[in-house]
Amino acid sequence: MKRLFAGGWTVTCDEAGTEHEAGWILVEEGLVTAVGASGHEPEADERIDLTGTVVTPGLVNTHHHLYQTLTRARAQQSDLFSWLRELYPVWAGIDAEAEYAAARTGLAELALSGCSTVFDHHYVFPRGRAGLVEAEVQAARELGMRIVASRGSMDLGVSDGGLPPDELVEDIDSALADTERLVDELHEAEAGAMVQVAVAPCSPFSVTKRLMTESAELARKRGLTLHTHLAETVEEEAYCMELYGATPVEYLTDLGWLGADVWCAHCVHLSADDTADFASSGTGVAHCPTSNLRLGAGVAPVREYLDAGVRVGLGVDGSASNERSDLLTEVKQALLVARGRGGPGALTAREAIALGTRGGAAVLGRDDIGSLEPGKRADFAVWRRDVLELSGADDPVAGLVFSAPHRVDRLVVEGEDVVRGGALVNADEAEIARAQRVQAQRFSA
Ligand SMILES: [Zn+2]
Repeated sequence: MKRLFAGGWTVTCDEAGTEHEAGWILVEEGLVTAVGASGHEPEADERIDLTGTVVTPGLVNTHHHLYQTLTRARAQQSDLFSWLRELYPVWAGIDAEAEYAAARTGLAELALSGCSTVFDHHYVFPRGRAGLVEAEVQAARELGMRIVASRGSMDLGVSDGGLPPDELVEDIDSALADTERLVDELHEAEAGAMVQVAVAPCSPFSVTKRLMTESAELARKRGLTLHTHLAETVEEEAYCMELYGATPVEYLTDLGWLGADVWCAHCVHLSADDTADFASSGTGVAHCPTSNLRLGAGVAPVREYLDAGVRVGLGVDGSASNERSDLLTEVKQALLVARGRGGPGALTAREAIALGTRGGAAVLGRDDIGSLEPGKRADFAVWRRDVLELSGADDPVAGLVFSAPHRVDRLVVEGEDVVRGGALVNADEAEIARAQRVQAQRFSA
């Protein structure tokens, strides 16, 4: 079955930044098999008219904590550490039922913002609560989205000098054994994978050296990617200096963590030397500008990272520090904060879209998504141009970013509709919100 999606302003996000003002995409068996400009349309079994739209690759989210949709708008004036200390005890109530409702909520929001692939960093595993990662994977499968789920971990409790309460930390061997179990059960290694598992100990201030080291060994033995939070705040740097006698990046370097299979969330506070080390080692960055502003953490110097050759993708981060899981808004936010630091030339609208698509794919180690080119998976977002906020925009691609947010009109993942006519195809939005309210009630003070 050949389906031709034709007539949209097609932003391919290939390496050359090719756009077709009236373009087409040929889709077969979940794959893009050809892309081109009007006048050269190939034969197809079905032709879908996308005249009057902009088509981009599906957006790729490189950092999230879906469970946090249950606990939004808490600790409103707190910095990272006091925010965490207030929320850890609340999060200790998580179970599979709540996780499922929370994941459906966050994933639905992301789908409606044009996001086709979601990395989720789950690291809260209260003892005796099974099925947390499985619940979010089930939610993604039902909605039709790609997920990279992580089996995160924390083992450095407050009585050992860490930040989380002791009842929320695990012992190393059981955390790693459970990670291997999830990899065996869920991880798909081949191109087009809908479900993958990453190894993601939480952060330098909640994880011991041994767990960091053994997590990396496990990931490398099994061919998985590795992720953690890093250099989010100045307080974290002071903490690392006191506990380890090293900056966060020096600490990761000592542990053998830097590498092309690793990406770190935030990286707000990297020195020029750190940046060079990230670039030369191939270590990626998940830039989460809204969350960094919400917690007053600062602004990552993304222009400098890009100029140095660091891989950068975008993340909404968890919904307790960015209450809106809208990745196109994050594309706009990345542009705004880059310009706030570096002036109006610091990031173009097209560079910002590239961060949210091919940049995110590169950070997740995926060469099968992130651009619209022959051989890539058929993941794309279709945006209407006849909405109020785009009327009058001569350049609809720049307009899409500058006037974000927008509700996506159509989201296609692996050749299948996930959103059509601005509504979820495989679930009812109102029902997701109802179920979420019931679960969130269990966490309210
Ligand atoms: Zn995070």
